[in-house]
Amino acid sequence: MIPPIANRFVAGEHPAVALEHARRLNDRGVNAILNLLGEHYEDRESAADDADEYRRLIDDIAAAELSACVSVKPTQLGLDVGEDVFRELLAAVVSHGRKRDVFVWLDMEDHTTTDATLEAYEELAREHGGGIGVCVQANLRRTRDDVERLADVPGKVRFTKGAYDEPASVAYTDKTVVDRELLSLLEYAFAEYDGAVAVGSHDPAVIERAIALHETYGTDFEIQMLMGVREDTQYELASEYEVWQYVPHGDRWKSYFYRRMTERTENITFAARAVLGR
Ligand code: FAD
Repeated sequence: MIPPIANRFVAGEHPAVALEHARRLNDRGVNAILNLLGEHYEDRESAADDADEYRRLIDDIAAAELSACVSVKPTQLGLDVGEDVFRELLAAVVSHGRKRDVFVWLDMEDHTTTDATLEAYEELAREHGGGIGVCVQANLRRTRDDVERLADVPGKVRFTKGAYDEPASVAYTDKTVVDRELLSLLEYAFAEYDGAVAVGSHDPAVIERAIALHETYGTDFEIQMLMGVREDTQYELASEYEVWQYVPHGDRWKSYFYRRMTERTENITFAARAVLGR
């Protein structure tokens, strides 16, 4: 069982709990991005097991007629084992998603995985004519070129600041530069992309700019936020815009919870208050 406090950020250990959470979100006008926690597998079997789990999850989403999709991590689908393993398992998940009309997102991990992730995304998006999306990270120096290159790919791009500590040789390490870079990438995407733009951020300045860009260019967009972060705002925004909540589940929740705790002081304060009962 997920202990109190962690259960603010993780739906539960079993897929059924995540699906129930998605139903509750849908009832309040918010869509769900379901993620099975897992990363950096070093053997093919673990990666293949998670690929099977994702296929089952896709079946469950379709059967329950939920407004939900899935989001997978490249190293969860075997990228550390081999690029061929990752490609094969991802292709199986995406083609299953296409069959059931369930969208598949590719999370982006650290910069050593960016090439393999973008290449797999581009190939599958072109093969299926959509149905797949990929995350890009504003902190990476290369992202501007990537975003331009991805403009004519028939998939969707999620714009984020980037969650990984990266070396200065490949990344902007000053947070104000990253913040500015994200706004500038969004400006480009809203102006140049034909399909919808996905904005993965809790930052009010980023959300405001995305709404203004949508009004200027008419480009469709969606706002994506994490379970447990600014949820009231998610429900408010959902009355006017398309909002998706990223909902992790599974028994490997400790490292994900730790990342959320260390990311922001607000989260640590929340945890401390809960422990102290205030
Ligand atoms: P921050 O710079 O963290 O915060 C800016 C402002 O937002 C704060 O000043 C505050 O006003 C508000 N805010 C933020 N958090 C809180 C809070 N807990 N409570 C109240 N206000 C808050 N990163 C990756 O590297 N790869 C991925 O695949 C990836 N996928 C993601 C998917 C989704 C749906 C989301 C939302 C994020 C994803 N990220 C991913 C993480 C992302 O890169 C950032 O690390 C993370 O979102 C923090 O940046 P931020 O833009 O939310 O704003």
